[in-house]
Amino acid sequence: MLTATLSTLLGQAEVSAFLRGLVARGRYANAYLFHGPHGVGKCTGALAFARAALCERVAGAAAADHGPSLFDETPANAPTLGDDACGECRGCRMSGTLQHPDLKFLFPVSGEERSLEATVEETLDELRKSPLYVFQYEKAASIRISQTRELIAELGYRPHTASRRVVVVRDCDRMREDQFSALLKSVEEPGASTVWVLTTARLARVPATIRSRCQRVRFRPLPESLVRETLQRAGVEEKAARMLAALAGGSLARALAMRDADPDMKTQRDAALQMLAPALERNPAQLVKAIQGATAYGKAGRERLRMSLEFHQLWLRDALHLRYGAAPDTLVNRDLLPALQKLSAQLDATEIRRRLLVLEEALRSIDGNISPDLTLFSTLSRVAGDRLGEGAWPAHAAARWDV
Ligand SMILES: [Zn+2]
Repeated sequence: MLTATLSTLLGQAEVSAFLRGLVARGRYANAYLFHGPHGVGKCTGALAFARAALCERVAGAAAADHGPSLFDETPANAPTLGDDACGECRGCRMSGTLQHPDLKFLFPVSGEERSLEATVEETLDELRKSPLYVFQYEKAASIRISQTRELIAELGYRPHTASRRVVVVRDCDRMREDQFSALLKSVEEPGASTVWVLTTARLARVPATIRSRCQRVRFRPLPESLVRETLQRAGVEEKAARMLAALAGGSLARALAMRDADPDMKTQRDAALQMLAPALERNPAQLVKAIQGATAYGKAGRERLRMSLEFHQLWLRDALHLRYGAAPDTLVNRDLLPALQKLSAQLDATEIRRRLLVLEEALRSIDGNISPDLTLFSTLSRVAGDRLGEGAWPAHAAARWDV
């Protein structure tokens, strides 16, 4: 198993330096809140931080054993302190496989209560097998109280083998009221031997009482080039990696999820781009036909709509870059270079930007209560420069959305 450490945390240099500083000093706040976009390494970072805090060779861990000192500063002649998990000590061997008795890892699950334990074990197994494992759960997934019961009982006792206990809560915004209260109680306890590391991509959903008691650590979107390189190292072919990285908006998890959903990016892109043709030909009936089946209801429909719109965005972004003299090998869609060259010769920068704005507006509306088909119809007709809009909508098709 390839275990992530703070020193190898992808694309979060600032966060990594900050956390290593904490580990080297061996002085921890009661609770940290790792926040930032989905899929940029918050949970990986939290587990790496926990492992470093539990490493037996990190001098900070030993220093904490002596309790509070009269002197806050480390003496100048102190030996160089480790600032990351060594990977070799007893603590690291246990935490590396997520089996350290003082490392608690909670994450949302869904499904039947009676198969909960199996679900949790399966997830942990997958995570042990691959550091690039992507957590995916249903909307209703939550951190179950049965998972926390044992932990809450343990909080009153000393840690098992380490000088502290680290509790990592992935997507803590999915905790319930009673779990938050248990957390608060622990955080406020003086001289607590528990360090909480919470992660969230939805900061606004974390209760203010929790937010105000945590030290916040902000994670940023990953650079496109880093996502591409990581995908390639994971065996994704260069062209597909380039496209996935461009679509993922700085989220490695999103790129990996898209790869798993349908590795054939090229076919998907071609299908998405072809849908514009009937809009350009001012043929609403044909446009309805083209987008039918391209979308679906619910979350899957929104995801497919998002991808379709993003393929168009990348396409136009390439055309714009080409107009500004970008080298062809820097383009995401460079396998279709002749078509891109033709487009960038046809449209001026203002028109390309207008089209990009139309797409941007549609992408922003996706999380609202929209109909994917209708959104795609009106967006593509507006991209084509004409309001084929709802007025031209064939009555037989419109009936489908009146549910
Ligand atoms: Zn170690």
